[in-house]
Amino acid sequence: MSILKVARMGHPVLRQVSRPIEPEEYKSPEFQRFCDDLLETMDEYEGAGLAAPQVHMPVRVVVLVLSDEPEFLVNPVITHLTEECDTSWEGCLSVPEMRGRVSRPNHIRLEAFDRFGKPKAYELQGFPAVVTQHECDHLDGILYVDRVEPRTLSFLEEYRRYANLDDYGEFDDEDIHTEEEE
Ligand code: ZN
Repeated sequence: MSILKVARMGHPVLRQVSRPIEPEEYKSPEFQRFCDDLLETMDEYEGAGLAAPQVHMPVRVVVLVLSDEPEFLVNPVITHLTEECDTSWEGCLSVPEMRGRVSRPNHIRLEAFDRFGKPKAYELQGFPAVVTQHECDHLDGILYVDRVEPRTLSFLEEYRRYANLDDYGEFDDEDIHTEEEE
């Protein structure tokens, strides 16, 4: 296994629409090795999620932690089940040392395949819904800074010093909290 280089904002790979994984790819050693490397890279940077384009690989694969164990989402499809949004602080391994507040629908349906091609479907709320939307946005070339509430974008040091975490909670690729907006 190896740790992959993380693409930073400005690299075109983060702005393209990634291609789906084809059914015959699941069995290939290359694909399985890539999944191992993606997971190892997420762990190395202590992320709660990592999308394939963030390691210069424009395919529709995400690894994230929805409960305890990391899991893979391949060719994920999200359906919003509400227009109600939660707001939380987000960060991203591809936008280092920054945080910003983002509002996202707080109840979604997720359909995806695991790394072996087995289909799965969940309904998600709260933090798992937020992290899933953040990571799946990467597959369409969207970064959280595209959705950030104007005037909340902050450097990490200033965020730690001035952001009122009791009010807003926190979410980023590295560590995450989310809180419902009043
Ligand atoms: Zn990200």
